Amino acid sequence: MGTLVEELLARYREPVPLWINGAWAPSEAGGLLTVTNPATGAALATVHEARGEDIDRAVKAARGAFEGAWGKTSPAQRQRLLWRVAELLDQRRDELATVECLNNGKTLREAQKGDLPGCSEVFRYFSGWATKLHGETIPVEGEVLCYTQRAPVGVCGQIVPWNYPLLMACWKVAPALAAGNTVVLKPSEFTPLTALCLGELCKAAGIPDGVVNVVPGYGDVAGEALARHPDVDKVAFTGSPRTARRLLVASAETNLKKLSLELGGKSPMLVFPDADLDQAARWAQGGIFSNKGEVCSASSRLLCHASVKDALVAKLAEKARRMTVGDPLNVRTQLGALVSERQLNAVLGHIARATAEGARLVTGGQRDTEGDKARGFFLQPTIFEDVKPAMALAQEEVFGPVLAVLTFTDEDEAVRIANGTTYGLAAGVFTRDVARAHRVARRLQAGTVWVNMWNGFDAAAPFGGFRQSGWGREQGMHALELYTQARCVWVPTA
Ligand code: NAD
Repeated sequence: MGTLVEELLARYREPVPLWINGAWAPSEAGGLLTVTNPATGAALATVHEARGEDIDRAVKAARGAFEGAWGKTSPAQRQRLLWRVAELLDQRRDELATVECLNNGKTLREAQKGDLPGCSEVFRYFSGWATKLHGETIPVEGEVLCYTQRAPVGVCGQIVPWNYPLLMACWKVAPALAAGNTVVLKPSEFTPLTALCLGELCKAAGIPDGVVNVVPGYGDVAGEALARHPDVDKVAFTGSPRTARRLLVASAETNLKKLSLELGGKSPMLVFPDADLDQAARWAQGGIFSNKGEVCSASSRLLCHASVKDALVAKLAEKARRMTVGDPLNVRTQLGALVSERQLNAVLGHIARATAEGARLVTGGQRDTEGDKARGFFLQPTIFEDVKPAMALAQEEVFGPVLAVLTFTDEDEAVRIANGTTYGLAAGVFTRDVARAHRVARRLQAGTVWVNMWNGFDAAAPFGGFRQSGWGREQGMHALELYTQARCVWVPTA
């Protein structure tokens, strides 16, 4: 390993405390989390574990900042501060990408070229919005001036997963701060390191203490405490539908805090007979195997017209077999390690079930234990064909590098299968027929539809799900709806 990595590991030799009120703060109960490097299975760092009393301290700090210094900060000041966070993220890009790679198992290249640029871009984008949020005057009856303001929601609990640890944190923190909220961010217990760096970076940028608090901990302890805290006004969550249901109950049983939810999907890529099959195979490979398939918008169902299925699967299987699986720090690696042994076993469980239900394995399907990989959580890129719409592999999110190939014979059937899950996050249409592309896009129950491409993201473009893929949209101007509320003011002028 290079010097930078050794320096980083040296930094993590002591347990990393929580980040509360602009300072490192030990957990009150004294619990510690061990964070693992999924590529080696070895401990990478220990981090203080937040429990109820720590969450309470963090919420108090966030409330204090909301009613104090942050509440008095002008939109123009917030704009400058968010821009500065973006600059600092760019300055530390290599270091943060390396930590992300070591902690998550994604390749260094993915972290450098995908995650980190997205982090600073989202701060830049929402920096601009800080000065552009305004209300309107309403022409009400009578001699009255009636106007609205866009008020912040207040203290926001933000619970993020392990697949894009820093990127998901930035997607949530940047719009919240632009609109004048304060946050208590709970990263995943598997991947808390870069989120803790974000707390420190926000302070270095000049953001007042207490505005951004970072409290790693277990979901059913720290996450639950945040979700049930009576002084948290809103919870923004990315993760599983199972946890989302817990958050709804917690909100209902406490203070009816607002919720926004991004819950993954089972996103279909529809390939029509007139599609460019080489192009479709390239996007399908990236769609299911990038970030080891641990992507909420993974193209996990490939819906092929029956006439092109064999040709497309042959191209894709060839690509999958040639992929380099291994050390995420190696620039030639294309598929890193799954995030944890638990996730690896969950994905192997999906593979076993697909086989038992009669799907045909085209390639992969095994844990990859070649050489040093035996220590880590690697899986061969996996493709199943002859998958039927009712099979678990066509219905359940796997969150791993496992593709289900299904076939259709006409457009109606394609749309019916595509819409035939409980999810609705993303979908794709591959065709050279422009009319068909737009017609099918309109019929797909999905928050994002890509035509002849996959995984297009931009800080300006809304992202979120139809149906059980979630509530609300992150990114773009739509995200501001999650973090503001209208205040209507009436003033008699007669
Ligand atoms: P999860 O929903 O349990 O974890 C996501 C986040 O929620 C983590 O920070 C976790 O600590 C927290 N959490 C867990 N239980 C909580 C609770 N009761 N209250 C508050 N917070 C809680 O997801 P997971 O178990 O890590 O992964 C399971 C599956 O979820 C994956 O296989 C995948 O299908 C899905 N997932 C989806 C996304 C996505 O981007 N939509 C991300 C991660 C996982």
